[in-house]
Amino acid sequence: MKVIIAGAGIAGPVAAIALAKTGISVEIIETRDAAEGDEGLFLGLASNGHRVLEGLELDACVRGQPHIRTPQIAFFGARGNRLGNVTSGYCDSDVPITLMRRSLHEALSAEAERRGISIRRGHTVTDYQQGTSGVNVRCSDGQVLRADLLIGADGIRSNVRAAMPGQRLQPDYTGLLNLGGVVPHSGLRSTEGEMRMVWGSRAFFGYAVREDGEAWWFANIGAAKEPSKNELKSAQGDWGTQLTALFDDDLPLITDLIRNTPEIHAYPIHDLPHVPRWQDGRVLLIGDAAHATSPSSGQGASLALEDAAFLAVCLRDITDPVAALARFETERRPRAERIVAEGRRRGAYKAPRTRLQMHLRDTLMPIVFRVFVTDRSLSWIYDYQVPEHAA
Ligand SMILES: Cc1cc2nc3c(=O)[nH]c(=O)nc-3n(C[C@H](O)[C@H](O)[C@H](O)COP(=O)(O)OP(=O)(O)OC[C@H]3O[C@@H](n4cnc5c(N)ncnc54)[C@H](O)[C@@H]3O)c2cc1C
Repeated sequence: MKVIIAGAGIAGPVAAIALAKTGISVEIIETRDAAEGDEGLFLGLASNGHRVLEGLELDACVRGQPHIRTPQIAFFGARGNRLGNVTSGYCDSDVPITLMRRSLHEALSAEAERRGISIRRGHTVTDYQQGTSGVNVRCSDGQVLRADLLIGADGIRSNVRAAMPGQRLQPDYTGLLNLGGVVPHSGLRSTEGEMRMVWGSRAFFGYAVREDGEAWWFANIGAAKEPSKNELKSAQGDWGTQLTALFDDDLPLITDLIRNTPEIHAYPIHDLPHVPRWQDGRVLLIGDAAHATSPSSGQGASLALEDAAFLAVCLRDITDPVAALARFETERRPRAERIVAEGRRRGAYKAPRTRLQMHLRDTLMPIVFRVFVTDRSLSWIYDYQVPEHAA
C-alpha cells in the first residue's frame, strides 16, 4: 500500500514513521523548502504525547533538542501570589518538556528521513480526486501523484480539508492574541520543573527559565477583532510598549522580560471546534487539519502525536483501508473535540474584562485548584493511552 501524507509538521512525520513500521510505503509532501517552523515559538509536550514518542522510539531524538523540563504548571495571581499547581502528567522516559515548535518539526522530519522516508519539500498539495482503487494527489507544480490513501496533516489551514466536499474552510478566531519571545540572558533563576503562568490584571503571562538563564515567555491578550497580517506586521515595533502597559501593575519580572526581548512575535489564536468530516473515502485529516486546538489546552502537539500512532494501528488491524480511516474518525473525534472545547474554556479566563472578574478569579482559583483541578480530574487528558488494537 502507498500512502501520501501532506505536511511534515508534527502529525505528518510521526504518522509516516508509524506507518512505515507496519510495512506501508509512505511519501511526505511539504510546502516549506527547509525543515523549519517559524510560527509558534515554544510548546509543551504533555505525557500523553510523550507516550507516543516512547512507543515509536522517538523520545531520545526529541529530548536531544534544547528544552526545559516542565512537569508542573504553576499558576500565580497578578502580584506573584501562588494560586495552585497542576502536573502535565507522568511519562516513563523522563518528565514532560517544553521545546521550540521549530526544533520539534526539525527533529521529527530529520528522524523520518533517517528512517528512509522521503520528504518532497517545496511542494504543496492543492487538491485530490479519487476513484474506487486509489487517489490522485495534485501538487502546486501541476504534478499528479497516485496513491492508495491521502492523509492531510497539513495544519490548521489545510488544503486537503478545503478540497473535501461540504467542508469547513476557515478556523475560528478565539478573541486572543499570542505574543512571545526569548530573552537570552534574563538574570532570572531557573524555573526547571515548572512552567509559570501569571493571571495578570489585564492579560495572561507564561514563562520558563533554563539553567543558563535564557527565558522563554508568552502573553495572551484579548483583542475582539482579529488583526490582519498587515496590521500585525505594522504593530511589530509597538508590541513592547503595548505589553508593558498591560502588565504595568503586575509582577515586575514580566515587564523586565518584555523590555529585554530582542524580537516579539505575535499571532492570533484560532481553533477548529468541529470539522464536519475528517474522512472522504480514501482521504483523511489528522492533527490540526482535523481539530486544531488553542495553545491554552497545551495539547495540540500531543493530539497530533496520538492521531499519528492510532492511524497506524487502524491501517495495520483493518484490511479495508476505507473502513480503517472510518474507524480512526470514530475513535478519535470525541476526545479531540473535548480537548478543543477545554482549550476554549481555559482561554476565556485569560483576559478579564472587569476588576470584579479579576477579583473573583483570584479569590476562587485557590479553591478551584484544591478541589476541582487535580491530577485526578485531568487524568482523562494526561493518562490517555492510544489503543493498541483498532477492532
Ligand atoms: C503559538 C502556538 C503555541 C502552541 N502551543 C502549544 C502547546 O503548548 N502545546 C501543544 O501541544 N501544542 C501547541 N500548539 C499547537 C501545535 O503547534 C499544533 O497543534 C501542532 O503543530 C499540530 O501539528 P500538525 O502536524 O497537525 O500541524 P503543523 O505542525 O501545523 O504542520 C503542518 C505542516 O504542513 C505543511 N503544509 C501546510 N499546508 C500544506 C500543503 N497544502 N501541502 C504540503 N504541506 C503543507 C506546513 O508547512 C507544516 O509543516 C501551539 C501552536 C501555536 C501556533
